[in-house]
Amino acid sequence: MKKNNFVGWEEWVSLPELNLPAIIAKTDTGADTSALHAFNIQVFGDEKNQMVRFGVNPIVSDERFSVFCSAKVIDRVKIMSSNGISELRFVIETEIAIGNVTKKIPITLTNRENMKYKMIIGRNALDGFRVSPDKSFLQKILDYNLYKLVKNYGYRRNLRIGILSMEPNNYSNLKIIKAAEKNGHHCEILNTKRCYLNIESDNPEVHYNGKVLPHYDAIIPRIGPSISRYGMAIVRQFEAMGTYCLNSSMSIGVSRDKLAAHQALVLNRIPMPNTAFANSPHDTNHIIDLTSGAPLVVKLLESSQGKGVILAETKKAASSVISAFQQLHAPFIVQDFVKDAKGSDLRLFVIGRKVVASMMRSASIEDFRSNLHAGGKASKIKPTIEEIKIAKRAAKAMGLSIAGVDILRSSDGPKVLEVNSSPGLRGIEEINKINIAAKMIDYLEKRLGVAKKST
Ligand code: ADP
Repeated sequence: MKKNNFVGWEEWVSLPELNLPAIIAKTDTGADTSALHAFNIQVFGDEKNQMVRFGVNPIVSDERFSVFCSAKVIDRVKIMSSNGISELRFVIETEIAIGNVTKKIPITLTNRENMKYKMIIGRNALDGFRVSPDKSFLQKILDYNLYKLVKNYGYRRNLRIGILSMEPNNYSNLKIIKAAEKNGHHCEILNTKRCYLNIESDNPEVHYNGKVLPHYDAIIPRIGPSISRYGMAIVRQFEAMGTYCLNSSMSIGVSRDKLAAHQALVLNRIPMPNTAFANSPHDTNHIIDLTSGAPLVVKLLESSQGKGVILAETKKAASSVISAFQQLHAPFIVQDFVKDAKGSDLRLFVIGRKVVASMMRSASIEDFRSNLHAGGKASKIKPTIEEIKIAKRAAKAMGLSIAGVDILRSSDGPKVLEVNSSPGLRGIEEINKINIAAKMIDYLEKRLGVAKKST
């Protein structure tokens, strides 16, 4: 078959790596480099690996339809337009398909809004073709309906991800960054405390280091318990800006407040240790009576890593602890001590609607708390079907996409102790020898409609 190597003065082309399956381009043998329409160009990444994110309106008759693309920057060039005004343009390198020929070419980005041709193909793309300047569409005819296909299947793109955390170098963050970068995404750690807000209803913004933060495709909140409230406000602001947050501010809030969390568990009929709460010192005895009596666990509502959890062996000890907390105006809950758990609990790691890993944590001989930070030891464990079901239901009850569900094994079945919104990765990854960070990134891609790497 004779190869069709003629192109007309206008041709259908596609830019597969930018998820632009059909664009009508004008050939211009007078131009060396090809140019593509781009608006809202934002630079990100580090100096060595600079990227741009930009919008394209590929459909001539519908300026409202836009596709957001990201690509690696290979250069910046000064281009002189016909009216003598020079413009500094980003140059990206991407694949172009003209008929059956596919090749990588550099393309400059420029605003071609309201122009009939959203792309100019210069000599660099026409190598191997002969131009028939009086004819058009000599190559394969494409169709704007291809965009529907791209929308249905999702498309692969590089994401700009912000990680909200105060510990840039902790194991979990480094693992998340590594997993994201492996999939071609770019991560930036944003120190939660250094973010500040502009709460204008029609223009919500997050500021950082004197500048307005750009658009992120996704935010991964890794918010420590010490700044839950402020962290939630920042996540809320990103949500108001339309950014997808891997765990919503609301779900973080519910899971962090032990009282609200227990109420959410009860509402969803999820088993948990018998729990009581009271505000007034007059009710100390009454709350103790609501539980099965001593030994009892008294927990500060804002406790984390087991630091505000006390085991009161007798009723007398329990009422002293309760009085002390009441004096300090520190809100707390009182809970049955689940003795059968024998100082161990299970941590089930939930991503979306799946339990992806689990471990058992056992307290040291001197303690009843199994938190790894309190000297607990982790070991491998196969959770029962019931435990898996309960963990998934508990994460759902809080509205969390990423959750570490802590469960106590008692003689009358599993009981949920706590649901953590920023579960650590280290212990559980090491015990199970799996890459949970990669699973988190896969889930994030799925939620954002990014096609799988192989698609
Ligand atoms: P924190 O949020 O501070 O980690 P938790 O409620 O998870 O508080 O409690 C810390 C640890 O104390 C748990 O991992 C568990 O080992 C132990 N513990 C907490 N509540 C109980 C209980 N009601 N019965 C038995 N052990 C408990």
